[in-house]
Amino acid sequence: MGDEKKYGHIEIKNVSKRYINLAGEENDAVDNVSLDIKPGEFVSFMGPSGCGKTTLLRIIAGLLKPDEGQLYLDGEEIKGPGYERGLVFQNPELFEWLNVEQNVAFGLKARKVYKEQKENVQKYIDMVGLNGFEKALPHHLSGGMQQRTAFARALINHPKVLLLDEPFGALDAFTRVSLQDRLIELWKSIGYTAIMVTHDVEEAVVLSQKVVVMTGRPAKVSKIFEINQDYPRNRNSIEMVELKQKILEEMQDRKSTRLN
Ligand code: ADP
Repeated sequence: MGDEKKYGHIEIKNVSKRYINLAGEENDAVDNVSLDIKPGEFVSFMGPSGCGKTTLLRIIAGLLKPDEGQLYLDGEEIKGPGYERGLVFQNPELFEWLNVEQNVAFGLKARKVYKEQKENVQKYIDMVGLNGFEKALPHHLSGGMQQRTAFARALINHPKVLLLDEPFGALDAFTRVSLQDRLIELWKSIGYTAIMVTHDVEEAVVLSQKVVVMTGRPAKVSKIFEINQDYPRNRNSIEMVELKQKILEEMQDRKSTRLN
């Protein structure tokens, strides 16, 4: 990405979040996390299961409020959800009663811009490779096609930031790789900031420019790995294999520190 992006700068400043469990006890999920995610950057969050990665992503989405700290998108404080932060979850969460076209058009209608932008519906359907499936209902689509619809539904709103929570976690290996490649093509051509939670270290190194490894619960930043390699990346290159190993070791260290 040679050109400088202007939008999609996420600043996370000293953010903490705790949950109250059924016994009324407080459990820290995120502890004093600060991160600066540059416009157009592709960043992944990794860490032990249950450490607080999804909680942090949901705070960025505005679906949860932090107990302490502030978050900013392009200098404006994040106070709730907004279309400039698109979301794609592991489960595509499509509207089951709407066909592909209607699912993709949903955000345009909700934002009352459908009339002016309706030609974009076909454009985004084509972009994710679903040409010919416009009238199909979600239950007639494969898992990968449902996830493509979810991508189109988020991207049609021109998000400055795309938030991805294990977006390929439920897919078979072949579909996962082909959708990862498509995600990188879309990210390069559109230029949004991408923040992805994943437990798949190969996915993280193939897609990201930065991998943020978190500690066990509560999530703190343990180490940030910078990956300055061009796309598409060769999954089996020595650099990628070594990097995977280093990240796994960092995660293992974090886990054992927690157990000690
Ligand atoms: P991760 O994404 O890293 O697997 P999460 O952010 O989902 O972790 O969860 C972090 C911790 O917070 C976990 O221990 C989880 O059980 C707890 N937690 C998540 N959501 C809630 C909730 N709504 N109420 C209480 N505890 C929660």
